[in-house]
Amino acid sequence: MNRDGVPYDAIVIGAGLAGLYALHRLRGMGCRTVVLEAASDVGGVWYWNRYPGARCDVESLQYSYSFDTDLEQEWQWTERYAAQPEILRYIEHVAERFDLRRDIHFSTRVVSAIFNEQQSTWTVVTVAGSAFTAQHCIMATGALSVPRLPAIAGIEDFRGEVHHTGRWPKRAPDFAGKRVGVIGTGSSGIQVIPQIARQAAHLTVFQRTANFSIPAWNRLLSSEDQAAFKASYREHRARAREVGTLYEFSDRGALQVSATEREREYARRWEKGGVNFVHAFNDLLVSKPANDTIADFVRARIRSIVKDAAVADSLCPDDHPLGTKRICVDTGYYETYNRTNVRLINLKKTPIDHFHATGVRVAGEDLPIDSLVCATGYDALSGAVLAIDIRGRAGIRLRDKWASGPRTLLGIMTAGFPNLFIITGAGSPSVLVNMIVGIEHHVQWIADCIAHLRARQLATIDASFDAEDRWVEHVNQAAARTLLPLANSWFLGANIPGKPRVFMPYAAKIGVYRRECQDVVDRGYEGFVFTEASHAGS
Ligand code: FAD
Ligand code: NAP
Repeated sequence: MNRDGVPYDAIVIGAGLAGLYALHRLRGMGCRTVVLEAASDVGGVWYWNRYPGARCDVESLQYSYSFDTDLEQEWQWTERYAAQPEILRYIEHVAERFDLRRDIHFSTRVVSAIFNEQQSTWTVVTVAGSAFTAQHCIMATGALSVPRLPAIAGIEDFRGEVHHTGRWPKRAPDFAGKRVGVIGTGSSGIQVIPQIARQAAHLTVFQRTANFSIPAWNRLLSSEDQAAFKASYREHRARAREVGTLYEFSDRGALQVSATEREREYARRWEKGGVNFVHAFNDLLVSKPANDTIADFVRARIRSIVKDAAVADSLCPDDHPLGTKRICVDTGYYETYNRTNVRLINLKKTPIDHFHATGVRVAGEDLPIDSLVCATGYDALSGAVLAIDIRGRAGIRLRDKWASGPRTLLGIMTAGFPNLFIITGAGSPSVLVNMIVGIEHHVQWIADCIAHLRARQLATIDASFDAEDRWVEHVNQAAARTLLPLANSWFLGANIPGKPRVFMPYAAKIGVYRRECQDVVDRGYEGFVFTEASHAGS
């Protein structure tokens, strides 16, 4: 609750990478800010995802804050792709270095946020019934923070342990000697499966959709590697603000070169590893014939790694172009299926009949399972925002407004909900780029916007409905120019039964998007409407 009954300047919901930077930035402007966080400590995704194998797939030296040059120089990453414990240590270090915890209420889940038109304030209520009031409310609630458990017949009857990768217990489950089942083969499943295979007596993987995965070739970072990168950190960060992540982007189309040259380029990138692979040619995400060439290359690699031809066949994705579901990056994923203690169940051929107390029945066969791991994903992008009962002007509910899909201006605000800001929400590049680059940009834009209001003693800023309609159309058109809408992906909400199918992130280069956001500001916050303090509520 507010100390002394005076409203805060800002309430930030969430203490992941976004919420922490928002607190630091707003505090630096002299804004009285409070952060409310459901978890018992900082970290967000990296607090919740403690599953074995969890690590970033944007290189550590890039997957880090750029806002403080001393911080980026002093922190030493040990691996090319840092594992969850190291990323969490980094976030904890940031919280300590900038003394952030003193303004954060942990174990505090927000259930509602109501706009008061008379006062031009937001009142945010927690699950325990505490109320906090502020002029601004910032949703740093995460794009991938609401885990989804699978709705499979009988799963509630299963008496073994059940863990979701996104809610992994602090005390690591012990799989030694156990028969484990993993449902889900997205990025989380592909990271956790090789690890569990090494610990468990037996592992059964339940795969609905085969995914494309590229080897990470993770390695220790030498101090020379780090020093060389850090010597040019400013240039690297500036480039990342244009392109998201520093991949080798190509200016050639896949079909402009000979088949031999294509293969050579795919092989070269496969040997380097990581998401860089998908940037081998500039038309892979816009031309299906071009995409077929890279997808064929990966399918051939899967067949060359996996010894059992039928298993390899099941692991080869055949229902979506490569990259239209988030590409996965792995360490020994396909090799895991050569182990004698691992079995793949292709749910497209043999669906689960039902779970029961001690296991699962598949196509009439009983498979005993002691522990079940659900790597079944998230209610992405809009999920965490809509989990809160948010009411704007005239009591309008965000859940009603977004019933046919999220509607935003620049991905940052939604019309009818003044002074409510969303970080890396639907309608911004968000999950399509290095998310820390997107987070820093949004926090800076929001902080500048709040400074603009304060300097002019304005009470509210709101998106206009017209400008929002134009932005939604612009975002739809950007997606339609790519192959991205062709997959049943979480980008589209296709993983959640009943969720409207709308391609949520904005499929433009972050540099283009940043300029669009800046142009809006340069034109006097074009598309936004302000109210002056005296007119608030009128
Ligand atoms: P989060 O880290 O999700 O934090 C949101 C916080 O808000 C959470 O702590 C949550 O508890 C809290 N919260 C939500 N709702 C409420 C509520 N109602 N009340 C109170 N608190 C609430 N991105 C990349 O760019 N590169 C990567 O390599 C990468 N790897 C990833 C690996 C995994 C396993 C996952 C799941 C995601 C990964 N991501 C990656 C995406 C990741 O979401 C972002 O990189 C980043 O961590 C998001 O930070 P955030 O602060 O916006 O959200
Ligand atoms: P995800 O990509 O949504 O994958 C979920 C998996 O569970 C899919 O294979 C899905 O199959 C399956 N599934 C869901 N419900 C099911 C059901 N009822 N029955 C059978 N299978 C079911 O989720 P995620 O793997 O957690 O990854 C989410 C995102 O987080 C990633 O795309 C990435 O952005 C981020 N992430 C990154 C990393 C990293 O490498 N740094 C690691 C983890 C996560 P269908 O495909 O058929 O729906």
